Amino acid sequence: MSEDDTLAIHGGAPIRRTMLPYGRQSIDDADVAAVSAALRSDWLTTGPRVAAFEEAFAHAVGAPHAVAVSSGTAALHAAMFAAGIGPGDEVIVPAVTFVATANCVAYRGAKPVFADVNPETLLVDPEDVAAKVTPRTKAVIAVDFAGQPCDYAALGHVAGRNRIAVVGDACHALGARVASDRVGSIADLTAFSLHPVKHVTAGEGGVVTTASHDHAKRMRRFRNHGIATDQQERAEAGTWRYDMVDLGFNYRITDFQCALATTQLAKLPASLARRREIARRYDEAFVSVACLHPLATRQGVEHAYHLYVVRLALDRLTATRDEVFAAMRAEGIGVNVHYAPVHLHPYYRTAFGTHAGLCPAAERVAEEILTLPMFPTMTDGDVDDVVAAVTKVGRAYIQ
Ligand SMILES: *Cc1c(COP(=O)(O)O)cnc(C)c1O
Repeated sequence: MSEDDTLAIHGGAPIRRTMLPYGRQSIDDADVAAVSAALRSDWLTTGPRVAAFEEAFAHAVGAPHAVAVSSGTAALHAAMFAAGIGPGDEVIVPAVTFVATANCVAYRGAKPVFADVNPETLLVDPEDVAAKVTPRTKAVIAVDFAGQPCDYAALGHVAGRNRIAVVGDACHALGARVASDRVGSIADLTAFSLHPVKHVTAGEGGVVTTASHDHAKRMRRFRNHGIATDQQERAEAGTWRYDMVDLGFNYRITDFQCALATTQLAKLPASLARRREIARRYDEAFVSVACLHPLATRQGVEHAYHLYVVRLALDRLTATRDEVFAAMRAEGIGVNVHYAPVHLHPYYRTAFGTHAGLCPAAERVAEEILTLPMFPTMTDGDVDDVVAAVTKVGRAYIQ
């Protein structure tokens, strides 16, 4: 072994001196100018920029209605409210996702039921969803993991047969498509996040899209305490009176956040193209690397590549995923893990009695996965650094 091959974690020279993050926002002068104009306007919270952003977002995903809220988690919560989820109901969620996908069910006093995932794609397995339907099931939440759309056709079949709703958690998948259908126009309700690592950011924020006028109206009320009219409607009617008709929340998003989200949205096509280009470079480089496999991609879909996730071939390595994780971090590559199975978190074990063995594929694959850096301003040189670090670490740990 030459000196250059010594892993940084063992005292060798790292591939990079400064850490390359796994994800990062891109803010330009147009974003800054839009926020600063909003700050100097008459509105800080809900004003004309919220409505303008909602219209632009609905147009971008091909949905009749978009309702903007304060986070992706609030978007999921509002979608559960619109779908009529309440105590005694069950909602099927994939075992591998961010905790918020299951939490929104628990917020409604309902029970999340965990379905296993396809180990090649980490997308929810429609057959396991069908197997977990009971007379109490009201909805399934489809997570477009990493930015790849789920098998909505198969899920739609299961949902149609059992008269349950399909709610999309597309927090990873803004800009993804199934054939010519855009994510956001496929499920009954679809939630998106505007967190800084996602495709379009407002700092914090979220959006729900739907074709239902009634759902959109109920979610607009839900984000404003369940009050039937908003401030502007009362001003126009010349009255101070209002009725609170539902138990809602303050899930409003501000006008200056929507100013940012609107200029960000305009850059979505370019940033998606760059994410896909980075994925193509990774795919090509990893064909000749024996110790890992990128997640499989489905035929006929356009992937939005929020994340680039690989599975380590642990039977060919002398290290665990956590050891590879530590070695990659030491090389200056900000790898991450998405996600530990949700049903194994202490809260779910205690509150819902979940346990290891419920979703065997999810539990097995969760030990093999590693998320590599992916964001639109990554340079080709950054991509080369990641490939060099993967190759170096792989060589050191190959059996
Ligand atoms: C980011 C994310 C959320 C939550 O979004 P926030 O805006 O952070 O509240 C929910 N589900 C998934 C799959 C996510 O990636």
